[in-house]
Amino acid sequence: NRRPAANSVVRPDFKFEDMGIGGLDKEFSDIFRRAFASRIFPPGLAEKIGIQHVRGILLYGPPGTGKTLIARQIGKMLNAREPKVINGPEVLNKFVGQSEENIRKLFADAEQEQREKGDESGLHIIIFDELDAVCKQRGSGAGGGTGVGDSVVNQLLTKLDGVDQLNNILLIGMTNRKDMIDEALLRSGRLEVHMEISLPDEAGRAQIIKIHTNKMLENNIMGGDVNVQELARLTRNFSGAEINGLVKSASSFAMQRHIKVGTVAAIDDSIKDMKVEMQDFLRALD
Ligand code: ATP
Repeated sequence: NRRPAANSVVRPDFKFEDMGIGGLDKEFSDIFRRAFASRIFPPGLAEKIGIQHVRGILLYGPPGTGKTLIARQIGKMLNAREPKVINGPEVLNKFVGQSEENIRKLFADAEQEQREKGDESGLHIIIFDELDAVCKQRGSGAGGGTGVGDSVVNQLLTKLDGVDQLNNILLIGMTNRKDMIDEALLRSGRLEVHMEISLPDEAGRAQIIKIHTNKMLENNIMGGDVNVQELARLTRNFSGAEINGLVKSASSFAMQRHIKVGTVAAIDDSIKDMKVEMQDFLRALD
C-alpha cells in the first residue's frame, strides 16, 4: 500500500457529484487539464518531456463561490495529505516579526520528504486564503508598513521557483482581488494557473440548491411543492454560500411553523411530520 508519488494522480475514480460542489464542473475540468494533467503520467515523465509540474494555482472571484471547497477537493483528488491552510490576515497579525520563519515552516515537511524520497515523495498542498492581504505589490506597504507582506512574497517566490525549488508542492492561493496580487507571484512557474470562480448561473444554482437540500430530500422532510428550478431562477446573483444560507433560513421558518409552544412531547409530535415547503423558501428569500 505504497503512498502515491508526488507526480501521479491516484484517484481516477473521482466524481464531481461526490464532491458536494455545484455549478463548477467546467472550471474544475479546466483546472484539471491546465494544472494536473501532467501528474497523471508516471513519475519522471514530465521531466523527460521537458515540462514542469504546475506548482501553484490561483483561484479568484467573489466571496462564497466555492474556492475553499475546490481547493480542498483538489487535495483529495490528488490524494495528497491533509492540506495546510493559512490565511493572509493571520500571517500579518499573528506572525509579525516571524512571518518568514512561519512561511518556511509551512514548507518544511515537503522539503524533508523531497530530500528523503525524491520523486517518490507525496504531494504537499498549502492553501493560502486571502492571499491579497499579504501579497499586494511589493513596496506597497502591505502589512501596515512593517514590510511583512514583502518578506512573505519573497519567501513564497523562493520556495516556488528559487534556489530551494520544490517539486512535491502545490500552493493554492485564493483571493477576491486578483488585481491586488503582486504580479511577480503570478508568473510562469509560480501561481501560474489562474482560475476565475464566478457566481453560479441558473443551472449551477439549481445544482447547488439540490446539494444543500439533499439531506432533507433523503429524510423526507422536503415539501413536495418545492420547485428547485423556480428557486434557481429567483436566486439570481446569489453565491453558493448565500444559497446555503437560504436553505438554512427556509429550514428555520419551517421549524417555526411546526414548533408550537407547549410541552416537549407536543414539539416531538409536530416535528414528526415537519416539511420544509416552498412557502418557507419564499419567506427566506424575502
Ligand atoms: P471566500 O472568498 O469568502 O473565502 P469561498 O469562495 O472560499 O469564499 P467557500 O468557503 O468555498 O467560498 O464557500 C462557503 C460555503 O458556501 C461552502 O462551505 C458551501 O456550503 C457553500 N458553497 C459555496 N459555493 C458552493 C458551490 N459551488 N456548491 C455548493 N456549495 C457551495
